[in-house]
Amino acid sequence: MEASVHALVDRAARTIGLREDTAAVLATNYRETSVQVPVRRDDGSLFVARGHRVQHNGARGPYKGGIRYHPDADLDEVRALASLMTWKTALLDLPLGGAKGSLQIDPEQFSARELEALTRRLALSLSHVLGTYRDIPAPDVGTDARTMAWFMDAYSSRHGYSPAAVTGKPLVLGGAPGRVAATGRGLVYVMEAFARRAGWSLEGTRVAVQGFGNVGSWAAHELAELGATIVAVSDVRGGVANDQGLDIDELIRTVAAGGSVGDACAVNDHLDHAEVLTYDCDVLVPAALGGSISSANAQDIRASLIVEGANHPITAAADQLLAERGVTVIPDILANGGGVTGSYFEWTQNIQQFTWHERHFNDTLRDRMTTAFDRVYDTAAAEEVTLREAAYIIALERVAHTVELRGYV
Ligand code: GLU
Repeated sequence: MEASVHALVDRAARTIGLREDTAAVLATNYRETSVQVPVRRDDGSLFVARGHRVQHNGARGPYKGGIRYHPDADLDEVRALASLMTWKTALLDLPLGGAKGSLQIDPEQFSARELEALTRRLALSLSHVLGTYRDIPAPDVGTDARTMAWFMDAYSSRHGYSPAAVTGKPLVLGGAPGRVAATGRGLVYVMEAFARRAGWSLEGTRVAVQGFGNVGSWAAHELAELGATIVAVSDVRGGVANDQGLDIDELIRTVAAGGSVGDACAVNDHLDHAEVLTYDCDVLVPAALGGSISSANAQDIRASLIVEGANHPITAAADQLLAERGVTVIPDILANGGGVTGSYFEWTQNIQQFTWHERHFNDTLRDRMTTAFDRVYDTAAAEEVTLREAAYIIALERVAHTVELRGYV
């Protein structure tokens, strides 16, 4: 993953004629912190987890990015994801840099007490490199508002009450109304902007969604509200399909009660997890983990538009195959940028100690997503490149400019 992000940056660097010195700074991370995170398990045994925080670039503002709890989220993966955050915050024109963190565990294997202890230990071990104006974590795969509440409390116990040092918190602890839905909603705002430019309507569009966590479920919900037909959905346990349209509210209720999407549907609607990606549809939203679309299945994808809800769901080889086949891809750093944009709104509200109405949050989110989309679309047309290449050109130009102005090179 890291190599393919580097390759995208290199290509954009050639297009904009990036100075070699600036490229050298952007090719490495500012700081990588790796810590041991021991926890006493409920059965009395000791487990020692590994935690990471990689701060890629902070020229545009404090480092920003989620913390992922996943066994595969090793230092290499976190490095790639941290650099994606630099390009994402720049593309959305937020005054923030890019970082990512992880705890290499499968959260399903730990009790709530163990998760709380792990989170508090991780927060304290990383706290010297974090802070409201230094680095602001948020939820990602395997973490949620509850995790952020523990994280904020542990950080505050050492540094004094610091709600703006963490985003994605519960509403009663300074979370922003709208933040939970922001990644999925932002993705839909971008799709609406694309549909306007392409001259089609979301109404009646047939959409398949891979992954039914925070991003996939909110995107599916908002798309269904706008009249799209959600024909296939999957989660880690399997997939379901219905050409007449799935009942998304029913799926959300089932998953919230601890079930899988399959539990809400008739058995004859069931699909294999991977089949959702190649299901007959107009738009595919991969919103699970990275690398789910590879050269092994890219040829079989039937959608004409892919909107990346996950970070890096398409391998570099698959991206090339899809471009050759004429499949349009709205890249992750644009399509899922609503999450960190919502975090930016939460952070500013915490600093000002002033709360926005959700309507204002959503309107401002829509404005920012649409502006970023238009810029990407126009750059792609002007430079005759893909939307992904255009997004990297814009982001790299912005980051490089601040790196040079601040005198890093
Ligand atoms: N984890 C989300 C992402 O990958 C949100 C990050 C944030 O809000 O800082 O963009």
